[in-house]
Amino acid sequence: MLRPVRRIHHGRTSPEQKNRYDKNEIKVFISHRESKCDECGEELGRQAWITLEENKGALCLACADLDELVFLPTGDAALTRRSKKNSTISAVVLKFSGARRRYERQGLLVEENALEQAEAECLSDSEVGERRNERARERRAEFDEEYVREFAKRIIQLFPKCPEGREKTIAEHDCLKYSGRVGRSAAAKSFADEAVTLAVAAHVRHRETNYDGLLAKGWARSDARSEVRNRVDAVLEKWGD
Ligand SMILES: [Zn+2]
Repeated sequence: MLRPVRRIHHGRTSPEQKNRYDKNEIKVFISHRESKCDECGEELGRQAWITLEENKGALCLACADLDELVFLPTGDAALTRRSKKNSTISAVVLKFSGARRRYERQGLLVEENALEQAEAECLSDSEVGERRNERARERRAEFDEEYVREFAKRIIQLFPKCPEGREKTIAEHDCLKYSGRVGRSAAAKSFADEAVTLAVAAHVRHRETNYDGLLAKGWARSDARSEVRNRVDAVLEKWGD
């Protein structure tokens, strides 16, 4: 049985509570049975990466707002430590070992720029380049070029003042999010205004507000979303006209 993740739920946390964050660090489980996301309803299959929320069940990483993070497997302690330190939000990835009857740490989910910074600090230039190329290759393999192009075009139509290049970042992220999911081809055909706006709002929340910092402090998603809602709306309005 997976146990629910304990998170601090109420309001701002006091400095005394700060040293408790590690115990409350966000946990991602590699499921060992069939899973379904309780929020979006997506069938995730076996070996899915999920989080558990109190009063909900399993959540996919997209619904848990952790899908912008990249995975760093365990193995290099210095790189792990630096990446975590550089990252506003991170999550430990655990997998159940049947033989040892306990969860074992597989690695860490961190922000990509935090990982890149840590790599630059810990590794040789050639290793840094190699790792960067490898991530780009993996990503490209999952891209649907037409989807990205069309989605980016819709973003520009709805948010003409969106800073240059962001439309591509948002469209690529959306494409990866639905990679391997049945919904992607259907979504690609319509690109409903609402879906585009949701994708842009999610990007704004992560990049233009302290939302990730609040999650990292243990805020519940709903509280953190309410906290940054006005700021998100203001940015969307600015980009929109
Ligand atoms: Zn979901």
